[in-house]
Amino acid sequence: MNRRYRKTIIAGNWKMNKTATEGKVLLDEIKASVGKAKWCEIVACVPAVDIPMAVKALKDSRIAVGAQNLHYEPSGAYTGEISASMLKDLGVKYVIIGHSERRQYFGETDVTVNKKVHAALEAGLHPIVCVGESLEQREMGITNDLISVQVKSAICGVPADKIRRIVFAYEPIWAIGTGKTATSEQANEVCEHIRTIIRKQFGARTARAVTIQYGGSMNAKNAHDLLAQPDVDGGLIGGASLKSADFVTIVNAANQE
Ligand code: PEP
Repeated sequence: MNRRYRKTIIAGNWKMNKTATEGKVLLDEIKASVGKAKWCEIVACVPAVDIPMAVKALKDSRIAVGAQNLHYEPSGAYTGEISASMLKDLGVKYVIIGHSERRQYFGETDVTVNKKVHAALEAGLHPIVCVGESLEQREMGITNDLISVQVKSAICGVPADKIRRIVFAYEPIWAIGTGKTATSEQANEVCEHIRTIIRKQFGARTARAVTIQYGGSMNAKNAHDLLAQPDVDGGLIGGASLKSADFVTIVNAANQE
């Protein structure tokens, strides 16, 4: 982390968990325990149907509401889909784009990720763009090449002045929901690589200001070491975000430097 130059962001990704009733209980617990946590931005990326509840429950708190997906078209005949402006209108601030589960199960590609990034920025949302390699790709030694393609295609056509509004999340697929975590060094290495891509394209000032999270079985035990890395500016947390005590421990682990 480097809080002098960029925001630290701890975001929970609830995935398809928690009804609105259950989610309200979790958010009330988190809200009561994080208190004034000023050292980082806290985000709850809840299921779409939980958003109105979350916005209401988190009103007057320091916790922002995030969505887990959007459609890139502004409106139209896309049954079952939700647009960026619909999310914005509800009070959503962040939106996860290109999570590996969406790439794997719902046909999300680097092209649709790019369209969604544009749609989110256009509506005034902050995209959390997920990138990451499979175990096979890591073992083949092509992690950085793959990350370069994912990052460059996600931000293709995004003007320089909007890059800082994007949050990147390095999420090795082999670490998501598996209990296997990247070592702090592996996490930092790829986060640093992402920053280098931004620096080459947009210069040092922009690269220095961009938040790059790590995600992949981050939990109450390993968060401190991962967040101590210079280029890891926070976490995107799945499983551990569903338990208030664990999530709050991770938020508190971001209070270092
Ligand atoms: C995620 O869903 O983005 C994630 C990192 O999940 P987990 O923390 O459960 O590995």
